[in-house]
Amino acid sequence: MEKRLIIAIDGYSSCGKSTFARLIAKELRYIFIDSGAMYRAVTLFCMRRKFITINGLNTMGIISELKDIHIDFVFNPEINEYETFLNSENVEKEIRSMDVTAQVSRISQIPEVRASMVEMQRQISVSKGIVMDGRDIGTVVFPDADIKIFMTASVDIRAKRRHNELKNKGINIDFEEIKRTIIARDIADENRDISPLRRADDAIVLDNSRMTVEEQMLWIKEIIDKKRNDS
Ligand code: C5P
Repeated sequence: MEKRLIIAIDGYSSCGKSTFARLIAKELRYIFIDSGAMYRAVTLFCMRRKFITINGLNTMGIISELKDIHIDFVFNPEINEYETFLNSENVEKEIRSMDVTAQVSRISQIPEVRASMVEMQRQISVSKGIVMDGRDIGTVVFPDADIKIFMTASVDIRAKRRHNELKNKGINIDFEEIKRTIIARDIADENRDISPLRRADDAIVLDNSRMTVEEQMLWIKEIIDKKRNDS
């Protein structure tokens, strides 16, 4: 029987990590977990409870209600994808809004939030055959993952992709604003005290600035085949 792997995909915002991870999971018939969606769902919860205001964060309030946050990924056969549920409500669209995107790095810096998410991520993944994308998957969540990929692409290309993605959804946001948000998230994710975004020593770098999704899939298939043959 083929070995079932844990594949960790980390990297910068808007690099296409989730698209890539989702496709790998489909190809291998593995479970795909978008860990960023979990931090986004917590952020939405905090915004609704008014724990995030212009004056700052009510960190104690957030910590005291963490136990009331339940996140699930539910398969929607109509679109053939998993969607994110926060306390039994489908929040897949809302967690992708610019408002949530602008706040998520503040919430993901709270150590108690991270501990709670990491715990959930490990629980979801008790059986192998997982592709998980995020910022700390290869470094913290699964330091023993079978394959670790660290994705990057130039800021302009990432902003352009995000701009097109939003435009296709009928959302018109200024390109420079998107670029500013991406840079701000890079800085926040790389410089936070706990689990900052960094490449694990044993992660393979994938700069997809000039690669199509098909080329990326061919690239990873070789790595997966090699891993399976070696083990
Ligand atoms: O991947 P995505 O852009 O949806 O992630 C949203 C945010 O969640 C990131 O900017 C980061 O602050 C946080 N995050 C994290 N650790 C992860 C995944 C996401 O801190 N494993």
